Amino acid sequence: MSIALSIKQLVKTYDNGFQALKGVDLDVKEGDFFALLGPNGAGKSTTIGVICSLVTKSAGKVSVFGYDIDTQFAEAKKQIGIVPQEFNFSQFETVRTIVVNQAGYYGLKKSIAVERTEKYLKQLGLWDKRDTPARMLSGGMKRRLMIARALIHEPRLLILDEPTAGVDIELRRSMWDFLREINAKGTTIILTTHYLEEAESLCRNVAIIDRGQIVENTSVKALLKTLNKEVFIFDTREAL
Ligand code: ADP
Ligand code: MG
Repeated sequence: MSIALSIKQLVKTYDNGFQALKGVDLDVKEGDFFALLGPNGAGKSTTIGVICSLVTKSAGKVSVFGYDIDTQFAEAKKQIGIVPQEFNFSQFETVRTIVVNQAGYYGLKKSIAVERTEKYLKQLGLWDKRDTPARMLSGGMKRRLMIARALIHEPRLLILDEPTAGVDIELRRSMWDFLREINAKGTTIILTTHYLEEAESLCRNVAIIDRGQIVENTSVKALLKTLNKEVFIFDTREAL
């Protein structure tokens, strides 16, 4: 089985001198459903930012399905679909336009773009909203819109940064079911979360990141066995 994501000795020092990542090592296997778990400020979004080249790293190596993100950027980019933590689409464009336009970045044919837009908007329960401007959507719908957009080029690796933060419990369940389904069909998934329960119900393997360092890297089962949840390093029980 091949390695979907390989991170070696990743360091990120922001311009103000703050070192957000202090030598992160991480391997995620193809087909895995992987959680990067950690408290606020641990370095999860910084790590994701580096993987999809939105954040410039200070040192280290990152490759996606064997493609180096520096020297084989175009190939690496094709392998990844990203659902960022913050909404980053135009609030004035329609749901359909936002998804179709994304296909342009990957050079997809118009007919394929249109067909896949319909497919993913239907799967994510947004087809009825296709002509609605994004600003009219609820938070959960906006999150699902970003998932549809991330899938348009059918990436082998889907990365979601805190996908269920602020999403109510019903919607969270249906989003989880959807993610399980596409993982079962072969898409490798990495999500970041600060909820242990989210990792527990979705993921097979988990790395815990704290203050820019990986402090644990194991299966979810093994983590739950060794962990006394009452003294867990951060409170994950809120909101679930
Ligand atoms: P997480 O996603 O785990 O909550 P982040 O990766 O967003 O954490 O942030 C990690 C640390 O880096 C935090 O202490 C945050 O304040 C800091 N940080 C994030 N972005 C910047 C930036 N642009 N400049 C300086 N520090 C930053
Ligand atoms: Mg974050």
